[in-house]
Amino acid sequence: MNTSPYVSIVIPLYNEAESLPELEAWIRRVLEQQGWPYEIIFVDDGSTDGSWRVIEALAQKNPHIRAFRFQRNYGKSAALNVGFRHARGQYIITMDADLQDSPDEIVPLVNMMEKEGYDLISGWKKERHDPLSKTLPSKLFNWVTRKVTGIPLHDFNCGLKIYRSQVAKALDIHGEMHRYLPAMAKWAGFRRIGEKVVKHYPRKYGVTKFGLERFINGFLDLMSMVFVQRFRRRPMHFFGTIGLLLFVAAMGIVAYLVGMKVYYSWVLQVHVPREVVDMPLFYIALTTAIIGFQLFLAGFLGELIASHSSRDDYRVMAAIDRSDPA
Ligand code: UDP
Ligand code: MG
Repeated sequence: MNTSPYVSIVIPLYNEAESLPELEAWIRRVLEQQGWPYEIIFVDDGSTDGSWRVIEALAQKNPHIRAFRFQRNYGKSAALNVGFRHARGQYIITMDADLQDSPDEIVPLVNMMEKEGYDLISGWKKERHDPLSKTLPSKLFNWVTRKVTGIPLHDFNCGLKIYRSQVAKALDIHGEMHRYLPAMAKWAGFRRIGEKVVKHYPRKYGVTKFGLERFINGFLDLMSMVFVQRFRRRPMHFFGTIGLLLFVAAMGIVAYLVGMKVYYSWVLQVHVPREVVDMPLFYIALTTAIIGFQLFLAGFLGELIASHSSRDDYRVMAAIDRSDPA
């Protein structure tokens, strides 16, 4: 683009062919009315329903569309990651492709960023149009995440968010970490995190791409994120500490056993009824020592892996990119 866009709309999608034309038209209407230079970045996360053909057709008519297509389904996090890397706007807005998020929120979100200088603002689907099986566990999920991260948001996983460009670019989203973007931003040092109540619509076309397993995965991701965030570059400090404690405990028990033996047979000169190796405590000590040692090995392996840490590499099979459109 000759003028770099003011806003980039990043849209991850997986089999959302029916929604795309309506979504694109709506976003275009909103942004053209504002007269803001913009770009829409579609990231097709390996759709098999012809979404890419729809995007190609839309891009023919709208020069503000850029798009990337994955070879296979890598997940929403990967799609967002690629979208963020390519976005050129001053503000980056993410939005689901299924018309559940409203493009009418774009302008108020940008204004709020401008006025209040946030690093990121997360949408809050206060009135949510999803089945109870989703909204109820979601409340629990958000409560736990609030407690663990200390960020007072109601709706961490809302697809509708706005970032200052610098913030989005600083996030390296992998696995299924898209549920914790505000936490990742905070850990990257961007602490001005806002929240805005946003409109939410029932899904109009297609089906949800996330089942109930999202909550188990989400919880496991939260634990590993907290772990990775603290020990990423020093896994030995985690494993080694536990290993060391267990090892010391084992040595303590052995010292106690040997001490008893020495005390009874040499000091008191009495016959000890049971040999050291006949006592349960001895085996507890043995097991503890072995587990402790294993944890040390885990620590070393962790260090080895961390020292080679590489990122996921996505295979982008096609792109509609406009480095310098006419
Ligand atoms: N999505 C994606 N890759 C996936 C799963 C989902 O890009 O593997 C997209 C999906 O197309 C939609 C957004 O992520 O644009 C949110 O997904 P969905 O609407 O299914 O989630 P829900 O609204 O049910 O939480
Ligand atoms: Mg949805």
